[in-house]
Amino acid sequence: MECIWDTSIQFLQGVGPGRAKELQKSLNISTFGDLIRHYPFRYIDRTRFYAIREITPDLANIQIRGTVKDMKIVGAGPRKQRLVVLFEDATGSIELVFFKGVQWLKNKIKLQTEYVVFGKPTTFNNRINLVHPEMDIPDDESLRGSAGLQAVYSSTETLRDKGFTQKFFSLLMARVLERAEGRIQETLPDYLIKQLKLMPLPMALEEIHFPTNLQKLRAAQTRLKFEELFYIQLGLLKQRSVRLSAHDGILFPKVGVAFNNCYRSLPYELTGAQKRVLKEIRADMGSGRQMNRLLQGDVGSGKTLVALLSALIAIDNGYQVCLMAPTEILAGQHYQTILRLLEGQDIQIGLLTGSTKQSERTKLHKSLQDGSLQLLIGTHALIEDTVLFKSLGFVIIDEQHRFGVEQRARLWKKTKGHPPHVMVMTATPIPRTLAMTLYGDLDVSVIDEMPPGRQPVQTEHYPASHRGKVYSFIRKEIKAGRQIYVVYPLIRESEKLDYENLEEGYRQITEAFPAPLYSVAVVHGQQKPEDKAYDMNLFVKGHAQILVATSVIEVGVDVPNATVMVIESAERFGLSQLHQLRGRVGRGGEKSYCILLTGHALSKEARERLHLMSISNDGFEIAEADMRLRGPGDLEGTAQSGLAFELRIADLARDGQILEWARMEAQRVLKEDALLEKKMHVVLVQQLSLLSKRQADYSRIS
Ligand code: ADP
Ligand code: MG
Repeated sequence: MECIWDTSIQFLQGVGPGRAKELQKSLNISTFGDLIRHYPFRYIDRTRFYAIREITPDLANIQIRGTVKDMKIVGAGPRKQRLVVLFEDATGSIELVFFKGVQWLKNKIKLQTEYVVFGKPTTFNNRINLVHPEMDIPDDESLRGSAGLQAVYSSTETLRDKGFTQKFFSLLMARVLERAEGRIQETLPDYLIKQLKLMPLPMALEEIHFPTNLQKLRAAQTRLKFEELFYIQLGLLKQRSVRLSAHDGILFPKVGVAFNNCYRSLPYELTGAQKRVLKEIRADMGSGRQMNRLLQGDVGSGKTLVALLSALIAIDNGYQVCLMAPTEILAGQHYQTILRLLEGQDIQIGLLTGSTKQSERTKLHKSLQDGSLQLLIGTHALIEDTVLFKSLGFVIIDEQHRFGVEQRARLWKKTKGHPPHVMVMTATPIPRTLAMTLYGDLDVSVIDEMPPGRQPVQTEHYPASHRGKVYSFIRKEIKAGRQIYVVYPLIRESEKLDYENLEEGYRQITEAFPAPLYSVAVVHGQQKPEDKAYDMNLFVKGHAQILVATSVIEVGVDVPNATVMVIESAERFGLSQLHQLRGRVGRGGEKSYCILLTGHALSKEARERLHLMSISNDGFEIAEADMRLRGPGDLEGTAQSGLAFELRIADLARDGQILEWARMEAQRVLKEDALLEKKMHVVLVQQLSLLSKRQADYSRIS
């Protein structure tokens, strides 16, 4: 059979080489199959028209029908300019606002003409409006799928600029499905489809893009989500059983001088949870099997210390250890902390990051290979092929969600003989059952207790109009010698807009906190690494009192003197992210504050989120609530960045049940046929190998 699935997307009518390149770049779509698997993230009911009077800002995308009454370009300068279109129906009027292609649109849109307008209500200057809505002259071109449910596809600004409207996506989907008709191969074993009453693949793909009715759409979604989660589970469970049945783990039989010295000289007692986790790790290290453990613990729960103590066990047994962190800032921080904790001990520690000088590097490489360097701390510079160990026994990865699966695997190969034990640490609060399945090939340890004496961070929520009051408070804290974070949201859809947000914020802050009395540092994703490091350092060293940043600072950064976290447009952040950000303060002995600033009209859900933040400091509780709260239709911006897998349709926050089901079925399959050798399981093996190929590609891209 001709494999239409792998046909290059440029051969689809309406695409061509130029657009193909854009699709590849923006959405990683290069083949017919990729396009078909670009599932809608939402559906809208195109049979429903809202009356303008009914519009509230918490609505998702809506459709209205009315007439263009007036149009004007306001604001000066190419960046500030916008086109405001006054749009009216029998019940009222609303402004449609465009920031891009202003002149072009002004010429194109016709006054006194009827349009169907489609977009998401937002508030600006206290008024509800639609920003960059789609506008069509109404025609009665019948929609495919009689339910009137229309798919909405995730896209990017660049793609939209190049004419990839929602309508165009639908057109492409219709074409690609037509070309693929009768040529789509089932990807689950037939007996499973029958037993589990799943919708067959060809039908599911048709329904997911062009639903006939709500019921069929649900069935299609279930089928595709099940399949996606099932293969992930199958892959993970298989990997895990292979690992557990192999007896090639390095043995660390004893606890020695390094461990005991450090343990005894700690200025505090370990928490019960730290002790328990340490025991679990020791048991693994003495079991003869390779440890592959996930250490999960809320921000500030003391994971670093557990990591260090377990590293010392490896060192006591004559092995080398490496600790990898996602950023130079974090790696440097770990290095300093660990130097301090091991002061007076005869242990050789090195730091290797992107900015380590060549001469220093050469020295490090040498001492790694002759075994004299016992503990290497660094960034992904550690993964480079030139870094080789004499006897690497233990690998620790901090904030693991920043690393791909493949990167992890490369660390295993840094030494001859037995693979090292591996521990990955994360503060991303994920409910335990989810973590188990999400990192299904790992064993999980949880630090579920905070060191004593921590004061909870006081969290408060104000409208942005109270900013002046917040600034006075900040001045008071700075006067008392403290430091402040001010964070702006990062919207994946538009990096440029983020940056403008941040720039504007930075301007505001420097105006309110002028030099030389104050010093303000700024950190964001578009900076060169050395600039980022420079500004970050200003703040870490206490030379800058305020750090203005996008959420790049979300992980790990430890500046105990910082006591205030101001989060601008806090309604744009997910709960877990808010919690992570809040975790940057409250790390020292001083009382700390998290101030959430928001625009005016908040959705009910946003309100609940912010309320929960102000009453709870518990990451796991927040994660659970996050799962409950995130209703359908709010998928935008909830990128599951913590995943080692790319999920195209399933959402771990909402599809917990399907996930459990998929895991159960995967377990059942493996119980009957551990090596997947039966004929009916051929398709499973094929799909698994495709999946692992995709994962590898994915980790290379990210
Ligand atoms: P995280 O889990 O977020 O990585 P860290 O390891 O950075 O947390 O620890 C946060 C702070 O708590 C550090 O300053 C550390 O010294 C301190 N700490 C760790 N364990 C304890 C303990 N048992 N008692 C008191 N303080 C602790
Ligand atoms: Mg940490």
